Amino acid sequence: MNQEIFIAVVGTTPQIVTETLYYYYHPFYGVNRRFDEIKLITTQKGKDLLMKLLWEDRQLDALCKSLGLANADIALEEKDIILLRKDGEAILDDVRETDDYDSMSALFDVVKQYTDDPKTRVTATVAGGRKTMSAMMALAMQLYGREHDELIHILAPDDKMVFGSKWYFPDDPADPAQKLEVSHFPILRIGRYLGAELKLPPNVLLNKLQEKIIDQAPITELRIQGDTFIAEGENFKLTPQSAAFLRSIIKRRLEASCPNNCTGCDECAADRYRLAVELQSHYLPEYGKVKGTSSETYKNQRDKIAASEDPGEVINVDEQLSRLRKKIEEANISKKFKDALRVQNLFLDPTSNQLKWYSVIIDKNIVKFED
Ligand SMILES: [Zn+2]
Repeated sequence: MNQEIFIAVVGTTPQIVTETLYYYYHPFYGVNRRFDEIKLITTQKGKDLLMKLLWEDRQLDALCKSLGLANADIALEEKDIILLRKDGEAILDDVRETDDYDSMSALFDVVKQYTDDPKTRVTATVAGGRKTMSAMMALAMQLYGREHDELIHILAPDDKMVFGSKWYFPDDPADPAQKLEVSHFPILRIGRYLGAELKLPPNVLLNKLQEKIIDQAPITELRIQGDTFIAEGENFKLTPQSAAFLRSIIKRRLEASCPNNCTGCDECAADRYRLAVELQSHYLPEYGKVKGTSSETYKNQRDKIAASEDPGEVINVDEQLSRLRKKIEEANISKKFKDALRVQNLFLDPTSNQLKWYSVIIDKNIVKFED
């Protein structure tokens, strides 16, 4: 990381630029950050104000002089002022024109471009913009910002921050009446950490990220009707055997006396031997619910299990498990629904990493068997 980038939105208080640069360059504040590139995003009116302030009134020269720098030491030229545009035309100063993604695309483009570069650190500010511009800057940093990028807010005394103020930076940084403060604006940097396609237009990207986040949240209800599992409008239907097997695993969890937040114990989970031994008491009643106890297939299975010394020979537990798991993974349902139904491997015997217990670790309060 060796390129320092400063990006600001500028409305009608262009002195935000001189104040912020003063703060980062002056040794008094102890930050001493020099920007290799400075980009100011603004409207036509903002640009006019910036041109007047920085060059016509020579405040950039004055700033450099005050900091003991040569003029070229602050990398800011007219070309670094980026105009917000709508339908190809520069936005004059109409707040109503800066309320959509289209008019803000220059801002998103600049933030994305500099945060795409692994060699940069971006320091961005929300301080100087119109409300929408500031909100969009925060959003752009949430979409594209990386952990080390910073979104800041600079504060000067109130009387210095008003429109038309002729105060551009302190002449004495230690003077309380000229106190400059930078606060870090809290944001969630999400876009780069959820595996989203960042090339998408920001509004589409935002919706995708929102969907991804919603998908991460656990389901809040699971209704079970025969062979069908229902969660928040999604239906997942299994073959009768698999449905009965999954039902029996979930029911074991529900009937266990361990607390709801149990992450798996000898009571709410069972190993493959116990699953086999208890097919008659646990699996068969569920199969009866799914198939109907008067059906031929049910009676057939019931009789076979009853007649067998080892019910595991009638219903192969390992096979049932792997079939069920495959069906859940391949199901056309949301990730969170799959997460809720997944049969987990548990290692409850600390002396063995071979023997597994199986359970569906689900919030017991959200499960309802409806038949
Ligand atoms: Zn338990």
